[in-house]
Amino acid sequence: MADEQITTIGRCHVCKRTFGFTPARVMKVTMDPVTNLPLGMTVAGTFREPTPEAVARSVEEPVCADCVDRAKEFKEAMDAPPLRFETWRAERPDRGD
Ligand SMILES: [Zn+2]
Repeated sequence: MADEQITTIGRCHVCKRTFGFTPARVMKVTMDPVTNLPLGMTVAGTFREPTPEAVARSVEEPVCADCVDRAKEFKEAMDAPPLRFETWRAERPDRGD
């Protein structure tokens, strides 16, 4: 098990910081080097089925733990039910009826 812990040095795709990681355990994002966007992602930010050519040329880029944490926090904030409840209340002001 311990012989799997080979650490390598790479650059985080998100923040461009150089960091050490274990290739077998690091979070990676699959990028299309031609568009410089995650595989299947369009410039408009929507997702579409990647072409076989895009899949063939795609590369996996490592993402550092800080950026993974930030992505998780962002996702949690987006999913948080209290936020949706506040939005719902704001859209329906109390008119006292
Ligand atoms: Zn990073």
